[in-house]
Amino acid sequence: MEEYKTCQRKALIDFFKEHCDCCFSVEEIAKSLCCSESISKSAVYRNIDKLVKEGSLQRIAEEGSRRFLYRYADSEKCSSHLHLKCLVCGNVFHMSDDQTNMLLAAVKKSSAFVIDSKRTLLYGMCEKCR
Ligand SMILES: [Zn+2]
Ligand SMILES: [Zn+2]
Repeated sequence: MEEYKTCQRKALIDFFKEHCDCCFSVEEIAKSLCCSESISKSAVYRNIDKLVKEGSLQRIAEEGSRRFLYRYADSEKCSSHLHLKCLVCGNVFHMSDDQTNMLLAAVKKSSAFVIDSKRTLLYGMCEKCR
């Protein structure tokens, strides 16, 4: 049983690693995993919850809906910068650490607000889609 759980977890992580620049809803994840890996939707929910708590996945509130989206968080690499999501192609881009620091410092200075870069996603249009 333990082994079975580990297997599901691995399938999930592999899925996110493969698409590390995209965000997915639980429905989308379940859809693509349940066919190939025979994982139940409730198992997907459970595992995702755990991975979010562990910091392997980032939970993002989808704009204009109550759904949550998830993306793979390379916890070491991705906690130090902001992410930009293109509203057209859906790709997520990694802002450079320098740019992130500049932006966070500017906001902090002008409005005394400290942005949580780990939980913030900026929406817009990427170079290709503009
Ligand atoms: Zn990143
Ligand atoms: Zn785009």
